[in-house]
Amino acid sequence: MTIVDSPRLDSSLDIPLGGPSLPQERRLVTAIPGPKSIERMKRKAAAVASGVGTTIPVFTVAAGGGVLVDVDGNSLIDLGSGIAVTSVGNSNARVVAAVTAQLNQFTHTCFTVAPYDSYVEVAEALNRLTPGDHDKRSALFNSGAEAVENAVKIARHYTGKQAVVVFDHAYHGRTNLTMALTAKSMPYKSGFGPFAPEVYRAPMSYPFHDGLDGVTAAKKAISMIEKQIGAANLAAVMIEPIQGEGGFIVPADGFLPTLVAWAAANNVVFIADEVQTGFARTGDMFASDHEGIVPDVIVTAKGIAGGLPLSAVTGRAEIMDSAHVGGLGGTYGGNPLACVAALATIESYEQDNLVERAREIGAILTGRLNALRVNDPRIGDVRGRGALIAIELIDPVTGEPDAALTNRIAAESHKQGVIVLTCGTYGNVIRFLPPLSITDELLIEGIGVIADALASA
Ligand SMILES: *Cc1c(COP(=O)(O)O)cnc(C)c1O
Repeated sequence: MTIVDSPRLDSSLDIPLGGPSLPQERRLVTAIPGPKSIERMKRKAAAVASGVGTTIPVFTVAAGGGVLVDVDGNSLIDLGSGIAVTSVGNSNARVVAAVTAQLNQFTHTCFTVAPYDSYVEVAEALNRLTPGDHDKRSALFNSGAEAVENAVKIARHYTGKQAVVVFDHAYHGRTNLTMALTAKSMPYKSGFGPFAPEVYRAPMSYPFHDGLDGVTAAKKAISMIEKQIGAANLAAVMIEPIQGEGGFIVPADGFLPTLVAWAAANNVVFIADEVQTGFARTGDMFASDHEGIVPDVIVTAKGIAGGLPLSAVTGRAEIMDSAHVGGLGGTYGGNPLACVAALATIESYEQDNLVERAREIGAILTGRLNALRVNDPRIGDVRGRGALIAIELIDPVTGEPDAALTNRIAAESHKQGVIVLTCGTYGNVIRFLPPLSITDELLIEGIGVIADALASA
């Protein structure tokens, strides 16, 4: 282990360097959280707004490969990737080298003041990688929510229409417009209104709950849209091809293509929010690829830049270019450090065969989780694609969602040194989003810890 001897808040602490050189092991040297993390959580409570929560109360000092090392020296298995962000690993060597070099050149000019190459290169890469070989343009922003807002702005400007359709269980962010787009009240919306107008919610395809085939579910949504809104008023339909926070809901086959065809026939912009599903995560470069759909506009963020804040809107040239000069942008959007990180991250996806790696991870996850399900009727469903897999936990007698069990399993896994995230409208889904740099051994050990937590819960 490499030790960095630099002055820190806690000078007695030996701080390991992050990156793949970290020992790839689960190692608990204190209870979780340990005494130093407990101390820091108190400090956090006194300084940080309590609305900013934490999934696991341990403070990080290093991370890489498939582990995260905390301030007490515990090494935890990371099955969350900071919510599908560090897919190429935390402090991936290509990203570290690129950002370090850029840091020594310049940190910021504001692209809309004085441009630089890396922004244009990221746009070119996105135009090349996203589904469809039509002429495309991209614009860069900072967060997923900001990109979602811009996608809506662009669709409204292009169509001259205002209404936007989103779906049950959708998550699109926490800013004002995106709160309106997001479905779940607690914790994302409750008390934070009023919300933006002209946002309408359509029924989602949720095979585990509705049992409908994709075309039937899409016709239901389209009928609602036509009756309650009218295509003449509708600027955009926005959907996550696999819903993230809503519970890793994979719509039935045919649902997305039917919506895409309807949107195309009605001058409605079809926007795929691939903020969580993008960049190799699902075992394709984008989740849209799997169903062969070509969105008019695609929104990306999380996995785009190895942990640096960056997001993008990519779409048909005629749609993207409809907004007037100065209508799009922002001070930090496409920051040069984030752009070179994105280029290095994209190089890693392509050169390190991470699409293939996501499929391997998916095979391990689904194989083991389905084996558990055979003997455990509390696991109602195992679903997802690639390295984006979830289990939905239910009461085996009533079939009702079991959020309490879900929280117990997550809490026990955290105590045992495995970082795992929950999600779902009903809070009863455990989601697996390991970094694609995790070893098979660590992944299997992590699943084993969750299996033990299930067995003892
Ligand atoms: C996380 C997420 C967002 C919001 O991204 P932020 O960077 O947190 O603003 C939007 N859409 C989806 C599908 C997401 O998963």
